[in-house]
Amino acid sequence: MTSTEEIVVEITGLKKSFGSLEVLKGVDLQVKRGEVVCVIGPSGSGKSTLLRCVNVLEEPTGGKVVVDGVELTDPDVDIDKARRTIGMVFQSFNLFAHLNVLNNLTVAQRKVLGRDSAEAEKVARANLEKVGLAGREHSMPNQLSGGQQQRVAIARALSMDPDVMLFDEPTSALDPELVGDVLGVMRQLADEGMTMIVVTHEMQFAREVADKVLFMDGGYIVEEGPAEQVIGAPQHERTQSFLARVL
Ligand code: ADP
Ligand code: MG
Repeated sequence: MTSTEEIVVEITGLKKSFGSLEVLKGVDLQVKRGEVVCVIGPSGSGKSTLLRCVNVLEEPTGGKVVVDGVELTDPDVDIDKARRTIGMVFQSFNLFAHLNVLNNLTVAQRKVLGRDSAEAEKVARANLEKVGLAGREHSMPNQLSGGQQQRVAIARALSMDPDVMLFDEPTSALDPELVGDVLGVMRQLADEGMTMIVVTHEMQFAREVADKVLFMDGGYIVEEGPAEQVIGAPQHERTQSFLARVL
């Protein structure tokens, strides 16, 4: 296997139930280094649960999740350590409201990675610049627009040097005029070779950026392939009717 073919995320037979509700019914997914996978599908189809199982925010009820060669579903694995290579960005930003932007970016670097303050600040400033927010170090989250807060959340995740970034509908809570800046940052990350799994309703973004699109419905991946196939020429009736509703 060449390095360009290295598999970063490998999910096999993933199942997740909440009580008697089976939400994921056997999902298989491989993501190679540098690949961007977009996950689309109706509300309630299990997209967030799938993402949350990748970093074991939800504990799978069956199957295997391997990230960077470490099986996160192995009960003997140090899950906090394994999770450090996975960045996650949520719909609702989840910034620390009582910390300024710089401290939002440095706290986990210091506490989790053991970086000293100078090193953590250097990394933070570089990532703020990357997301177009140099100069906002001392702003509080509530002084920023939703789009700026989401870009801070992305910079915060990047500051942990992740091998893979998970995005759960990162633009769904934003006013329409702020969506483009966030998608622009994500597009730049993709261009730089970041491995990404992105749950999104932004079909144009998926078409332009995704190496692979998955359509989920009812706890299964119903259809997957290149965007021009899954979005452009869907084969399954359920994919077709979903796209007819969102496009
Ligand atoms: P999506 O992100 O595609 O909208 P989710 O993964 O959030 O779907 O949810 C899939 C199903 O799982 C929904 O029926 C939802 O109500 C249910 N679900 C999600 N999380 C929980 C939970 N913590 N407890 C119980 N049910 C849940
Ligand atoms: Mg969701």
